[in-house]
Amino acid sequence: AAPLVIAVSTSISAKHGLLIRNRASFEGARNLNAVVFDKTGTLTKGEFEVTNIVPNEGYKEEEVLNWAASLEQNSEHPIATGIVKSAKDKKIKFKKITDFESIIGKGIQGIIDGKKVNVVSPGYVTSQNMGYDEQLFNEMSEEGKTVVFVLLDDKLAGMIALADIVRETAKEAIAALKENGIHSIMLTGDNKKVANWVAKQLDIDEVYAEVLPDKKADQVRKIKEKGWKVAMTGDGVNDAPALATADLGIAIGAGTDVAMETADIVLVKSNPKDVVSLIDLSRKTYRKMI
Ligand code: ADP
Ligand code: MG
Repeated sequence: AAPLVIAVSTSISAKHGLLIRNRASFEGARNLNAVVFDKTGTLTKGEFEVTNIVPNEGYKEEEVLNWAASLEQNSEHPIATGIVKSAKDKKIKFKKITDFESIIGKGIQGIIDGKKVNVVSPGYVTSQNMGYDEQLFNEMSEEGKTVVFVLLDDKLAGMIALADIVRETAKEAIAALKENGIHSIMLTGDNKKVANWVAKQLDIDEVYAEVLPDKKADQVRKIKEKGWKVAMTGDGVNDAPALATADLGIAIGAGTDVAMETADIVLVKSNPKDVVSLIDLSRKTYRKMI
């Protein structure tokens, strides 16, 4: 009777918004006791809106936004999309940039009018021992805003704060996992304060923040070594190695192709709650077979 059960579960899984790419992993999903989620684009919508532009002394708001947006036109990060949109809304005329480079997990760099311009993470600024308005930074971060720094020739020109939207369905997903006795974990490259704010909104059990892209898989490996049977859920290119490392890799349908090609299961509706349906479905399907 096994093939029949599997055939039925295929149509049921489609109904639940699941694209099962690896049936053996789906079978193993019934044994999971921990689920790791990437933050941006997975637990949140990944649709950033600029909320504050804070120029340093001697600079104007429009200048800071102009440099940042001109540079971000070359990036596909959700932060970039938010900054470019804000500049377009303000009808800012973009500047010509050359020598564009990504600084993986930390930001971007380029040359504008002969000057070096960077848009970078708080971690990058701290590692370069640059001073900034820590009180204002803390205030914005503690409200869950992602803050990036605009540098001009290695000097701080200003800060840009962006707000993302926490998915309502993410909250429901975490609550349902809890009911099923499954541990929830957040894994993000973003700042600790922002990560903690989002984790609190969602009642997530454990948080790993400021994890560089090439360290995400290592972190999943460490979680496995602690004895957890773990699924990793993510959307980004930088999540792919972690998806491959987990016992089960789950990609958000609205995410990048690389994530989807690496994952065992794709959440077609980009609804984190479908993680719970998937575990439930695996439990039901394979219980019937025994
Ligand atoms: P996430 O896990 O949130 O997808 P990433 O590893 O992509 O994080 O990025 C980590 C951090 O690096 C971001 O929170 C941001 O501070 C900085 N960063 C990455 N890309 C950009 C960019 N294009 N513009 C500005 N900052 C960036
Ligand atoms: Mg992401």
